[in-house]
Amino acid sequence: MTDWSEIATQIAAASGEPFDPKQPRQVGGGCINAAAVLADGDRRWFVKLNDASRLDMFEAEYDGLAAMAATDSIRVPRPLCCGTGGRQAFIAMEYIPLGGSGGATTARAGEELAAMHRSTADTFGWHRDNTIGSTPQPNQRDAHWVRFWCEHRLGFQLELAARNGYGGRLQERGARLLEQIGALLDHAPAPSLLHGDLWGGNFSGDDQGNPVIFDPACYYGDREADVAMTELFGGFGSRFYAAYNAAWPLDAGYETRKTLYNLYHILNHLNLFGGGYGGQAERMMDRLLAAVG
Ligand code: ADP
Repeated sequence: MTDWSEIATQIAAASGEPFDPKQPRQVGGGCINAAAVLADGDRRWFVKLNDASRLDMFEAEYDGLAAMAATDSIRVPRPLCCGTGGRQAFIAMEYIPLGGSGGATTARAGEELAAMHRSTADTFGWHRDNTIGSTPQPNQRDAHWVRFWCEHRLGFQLELAARNGYGGRLQERGARLLEQIGALLDHAPAPSLLHGDLWGGNFSGDDQGNPVIFDPACYYGDREADVAMTELFGGFGSRFYAAYNAAWPLDAGYETRKTLYNLYHILNHLNLFGGGYGGQAERMMDRLLAAVG
């Protein structure tokens, strides 16, 4: 059971204003969590809920939203607090009325995402682990991008796949890919603040047409990993890519790295959902291995 009055009490404490909401309005559309809008007159908060054992997932989401908001580049929901109410963990954040995402919005998203990527750290990774979907995402800091990517992204998902029973050709191809990784990742990216899970479902316009991104899996990494993911399930539209490249051109060789970066997400989908993602992952690996000869 969700203890809404306990959640409202924590929202009041965190916001410093009295908060006495009416019945929560459930919101659909999320992949992992239940969500609701809690409203008291003009004060509205967007609240995501999961089992109390998942509190750390929301704490990491809080940190991710706060980190992106601090860059003052692209709109994200401002996080307010997280905690537990009854048997549920929750995160409360700014409620943003979401509208469509027309061409002008996507163009601004490209420009503003590039601005967010200008926010860099000394090392790759992050100060904490988080999740990608509901899969753990390790973020141990590392000064070397290639090593970080091999161990904590590709290698981690391949091991998970092996534990989930996906062996054979997938693992054989995966091992060869890890051996060849130096040839595939032969550029020197800066550790940029990434959204980390930037598919179309985590992007929208607000009711004024400002781009908004939400539901992050932040870490410092190659900015191309974010751009690659926007292309994975449909793409953000040509104006987005034109604006991104005008603000900060992608390095030569992006098209090949894009496949490598998106392989991480396809392997994650294999581990989460099974099915045809195994074949898709193998085809991506074949393309990458062919590219290095
Ligand atoms: P999940 O973690 O379950 O994938 P999301 O964070 O993607 O959930 O949120 C589910 C849906 O709720 C989104 O697709 C979006 O339409 C809406 N949404 C997300 N954040 C907000 C917000 N801060 N204000 C208003 N609506 C939001």
